[in-house]
Amino acid sequence: MRDSLPRESARLSRVESVFKDVFQKYSYEEVRIPVLESKELFYHGLGETSDAVGKEMYSFVDRDGRELALRPEGTASVVRALIQNNLCYNDRPRLWYEGPMFRHERPQAGRYRQFQQLGVEAFGFSEPAIDVEVIQIGNEVFSQLGLSSLITLKINSIGSAEARAQYREQLVEALTPLSAELDEDSRKRLQTNPLRILDSKIPRTKELLSEAPQLHDSLGDDAKERFDHVLELLQTAGVEYTLDPYLVRGFDYYTDTVFEWVTDRLGAQDAVCAGGRYDGLVELLGGNPTPGVGFAAGIDRVASLCEQLEEPDYCAADVYLIPMDERHREFVNQVAQHLRFNTDLRIREHIGTGNMKNKMRWADKSRATWAVIVGDTELNERVVTVKWLRSERAQLSTSVENLVNVISENTE
Ligand code: ATP
Ligand code: MG
Repeated sequence: MRDSLPRESARLSRVESVFKDVFQKYSYEEVRIPVLESKELFYHGLGETSDAVGKEMYSFVDRDGRELALRPEGTASVVRALIQNNLCYNDRPRLWYEGPMFRHERPQAGRYRQFQQLGVEAFGFSEPAIDVEVIQIGNEVFSQLGLSSLITLKINSIGSAEARAQYREQLVEALTPLSAELDEDSRKRLQTNPLRILDSKIPRTKELLSEAPQLHDSLGDDAKERFDHVLELLQTAGVEYTLDPYLVRGFDYYTDTVFEWVTDRLGAQDAVCAGGRYDGLVELLGGNPTPGVGFAAGIDRVASLCEQLEEPDYCAADVYLIPMDERHREFVNQVAQHLRFNTDLRIREHIGTGNMKNKMRWADKSRATWAVIVGDTELNERVVTVKWLRSERAQLSTSVENLVNVISENTE
């Protein structure tokens, strides 16, 4: 688990705020869910054979002897909240959530044991139009972040649970005689979670898969028709996608449409956002049968992608205010308050002793654009001295009232 320092945190916050703005525009409502849940929720909801539960979950027994887990993802919790609070009664909620998720993985660039997700979930709609709405939300976010050219939307349909069970048997039957040629992970998955073999990245395994039965052929006519409808609507909406017949998701709960935004800019950690439809999950967790669809974005990875774009220089403050002496503190504080409440700028007051040179060093360190200085002369005349820290412009003296104008003339 890592710390994110101010520069990275600023980037993470910016990404989060773009997501939230878009969620708002689509009228999705926020839910806040706890970090701890009963371990059972995830075993039951996500499936014991999924990596996130079977291999990666942080779980422990609390003081009351209950088995708890740090959530590895958000969907199961949102569904639990939905059932517990009867949210689907006469309603079809469209929700979003955010927060840290926990998985005991091997830490590496883009893969952390605590990472941040933002996700949406829409309940009560089985229409293809909702799949498309959810995908459009993701696309809108990536476009606003300027990432469209760096990512691709992959999409597939994995059909109903029954069709998948049938296909699973066919796949196991086809691959078992070849198991010696599979990579080690896939060989294990043949026993535990055969469908996950489909998204293996190992070339020989991929070759064997291309000769094995295809999931698409196992889908029922309804599922195929539904998927065609989703694709049609995506085209009409101008959403570009790539069909990927080998795309499957890590959790058991998915049905029909599954999708993932991937990039080739982040090395092996190529998925930035993933989701799909999960029509059986609400019922599985004890609610009335309710269809659902959603996605979860990995904010750490999205932010790393943003880092590859041209970003404005990072700075902690815009204006750095310096009292030459403590006698000037009161006036400096008044000027600071005036700027804080009349501009969007970030205002930092110098606190601490030291000579002027030392104070200017702190101003420079903050990377502020302006230093605003108050000494005896300024105090007597109720003016301030403005110095440009990042250009050659000559300093000037101005009244407090005019200071906002002086600064805003030069914000471009
Ligand atoms: P991966 O294939 O990379 O392990 P996943 O299929 O396990 O991803 P999901 O459970 O679908 O991931 O989670 C949605 C998104 O959350 C992923 O697309 C990814 O961006 C992000 N994510 C998942 N695990 C991690 C992690 N350990 N560290 C950082 N981000 C992660
Ligand atoms: Mg994973």
